[in-house]
Amino acid sequence: MGYAPPLPDPKLPPVRVNLYSDTQTKPTAAMRKAMTEAEVGDDQAGTDPSVRALCERMAALLGKEAAVFLPSGTMCNEVAILTHCRPGDEILAHRTAHIATSEGGAPWALTGASVLPLEGRGGKFDVATLTAAFRPHTRYAPPQTLVAVEQTSNLGGGAVWPLDLLKAIAETAHAAGMATHMDGARLMNAVVASGVPAHEVAAGYDSVWLDFTKGLGAPLGAVLAGSSAFIDAAWRWKQRLGGSMRQAGICAAACLYALDHHVERLAEDHENARLLARGLAQIPGITVETPETNLVFLDTSGTGMPADVLAARARREGVAISTMGKFRGRACLHLDVDREGVEVAIGVLSAAAQRELAA
Ligand SMILES: *Cc1c(COP(=O)(O)O)cnc(C)c1O
Repeated sequence: MGYAPPLPDPKLPPVRVNLYSDTQTKPTAAMRKAMTEAEVGDDQAGTDPSVRALCERMAALLGKEAAVFLPSGTMCNEVAILTHCRPGDEILAHRTAHIATSEGGAPWALTGASVLPLEGRGGKFDVATLTAAFRPHTRYAPPQTLVAVEQTSNLGGGAVWPLDLLKAIAETAHAAGMATHMDGARLMNAVVASGVPAHEVAAGYDSVWLDFTKGLGAPLGAVLAGSSAFIDAAWRWKQRLGGSMRQAGICAAACLYALDHHVERLAEDHENARLLARGLAQIPGITVETPETNLVFLDTSGTGMPADVLAARARREGVAISTMGKFRGRACLHLDVDREGVEVAIGVLSAAAQRELAA
């Protein structure tokens, strides 16, 4: 069991419907064309025109002074944490946060900062939970210097943090002298689902980033934004970690293309997620968390079948999903899965689950 990508397997048919992750998108022909035509320079020297254009556009979109282009979302989180925190510091984040569960222990390993896991439904926590986790300012307690939220929450089921909660969390953190960070891997999914502009969602957060490989369809790249002083300091970490690139404009061009062509269409993924959820909810023994965005989480415990067994059976019929716990499966909608693909997936998953009940 676990989160291992669907490897090509000669014993299995090719994947027809890839719901494994919204990172599974392939750059479209038009995106590749934009990449080949990109004006390029030297990212490390700060002279790549396409990277500069992307960073300027992202700073404006996110309502921040400046932005920096990095190879991945994980590097955005870790560069931000390295910039905000010092060894011995403590970060407050949800128990399921990507920084705590999915980055190889990087806050501990790279910054020397620990993550204090907070509880709450849907990957979110409230102000009372946050303040209850505050430690006294003594020489005994680790200094708490950063509060991090994830918009949307991945393991929280793609849930969207409401604006008033984001605001209250940021105000509480700042009043306590802490900085605030938003992991916006799927920020544009939240923007499209809620209708709240990105700069409003990110207001109150000292750093925020967007991933271009999650449903936006770019082959790589993420942009971290914040104040000019924050981004200057982040640039030193980009350099130290080897994240300074050369003709990176070829990749920035894909991200610019995605901003122009792949944001509004996220609404289709959300619609397809609802369609998939409705279909899966009809399967006896399967319960489905109502999707808010493009992620659909299903619970197989009512069938008695572990999620990885269901996933393996579906994979044999050309449908890939991932598993996030013994009885928890995840299906991600993205631009390479259309309505027809969703219907195929419902049929395959339904047959795979019901065979078990009959057995
Ligand atoms: C995928 C993801 C990341 C990491 O992004 P990569 O580009 O894969 O490094 C961080 N946070 C969340 C919530 C994610 O889903």
